[in-house]
Amino acid sequence: MIVDFRSDTLTRPTAGMLDMMFSANTGDDVYGEDETVNALEEKLASMFGMEAALFCPSGTMSNQIAIKCFTQPLDEVICDRNSHVYLYEGGGIAFNSGASVRLLSGDRGRLSAEMIEESINPDNIHHPVSRLVVLENTVNRGGGSYYKLEDIEPIYHLCRLKNLRLHLDGARIFNALVETGDDMKKYGHMFDGISVCLSKGLGAPVGSVLLGSIELIKKARRVRKVMGGGMRQAGYLAAAGIYALDNHIGRLKEDHQHARLLAEALNGLPFVRGVLPVDTNIVIAELNPEMSAEHFVDRLNAHGIRCSSFGKGFVRMVTHLDISPLMVEYAIDELHKMKH
Ligand SMILES: *Cc1c(COP(=O)(O)O)cnc(C)c1O
Repeated sequence: MIVDFRSDTLTRPTAGMLDMMFSANTGDDVYGEDETVNALEEKLASMFGMEAALFCPSGTMSNQIAIKCFTQPLDEVICDRNSHVYLYEGGGIAFNSGASVRLLSGDRGRLSAEMIEESINPDNIHHPVSRLVVLENTVNRGGGSYYKLEDIEPIYHLCRLKNLRLHLDGARIFNALVETGDDMKKYGHMFDGISVCLSKGLGAPVGSVLLGSIELIKKARRVRKVMGGGMRQAGYLAAAGIYALDNHIGRLKEDHQHARLLAEALNGLPFVRGVLPVDTNIVIAELNPEMSAEHFVDRLNAHGIRCSSFGKGFVRMVTHLDISPLMVEYAIDELHKMKH
């Protein structure tokens, strides 16, 4: 048995999803004529109560397009030091937008209005212009930590007051929403842009959707084209996204339960120093020096269990659609065996 906890991007389309992809009505989306892409965009926009949406090949692209649309060169983007837009998008903020970045140290990646307020630059030619705040929900490097709506509200008010744009990297927004039960339309109201990934826990093979105003999405469509992200019969991929939204949101709770079970097993091991609180589908464990992360990964790999080392002394396991209860049981058994 191969049990792959390296990432929730590793899922393969289910039979039902493939059926829907095969039977999709498609057209040329660069001409705006792919009805399945249009349906996906309308569906997600209306779920969040936003005006418009744009289907993009990846979450990196939808975030980078949003940052490009919200900033000018000489502007500054405020985000957490562990955020995906800063750490894992290849320096795209500098490359695509010519903007500088102000890094904050949030609570497991979560920023507060106070922190953001302190980081706003005075209007003085020595400083870049504070323009955009990017939040991530859930926070990948925070071990799947999430914001509640009430944590975001003060940030929204601050941004309004200080004329800052507010973007959400919602690659795993539904992992947060199934825990909080928060109202999606309130998210749509507070953020100027939201990117949602279909290819993470939702289990679609490809794609991310940027949500925003008609004006934002008009500009975003232009930026997507220049980045090479205008896709033709993309409806085959969008169909998978629609299927995922209809069938795979509620079940994210199972992934979270699986993650908690894995965390419990890890916590019982003598060479584990601690496990970050498990809020959603990501488990990050810190190991004692006698067990290197590489050795831990290799030992599990020898039993068909894959996970990743996550910086020195840390390992990460992510649960997802292709992890069954039986696989979790098997992995927990193998973890217990490592005690000896
Ligand atoms: C995965 C991810 C993205 C987008 O990644 P792509 O691989 O480009 O689709 C963006 N933000 C976060 C927090 C992610 O985990």
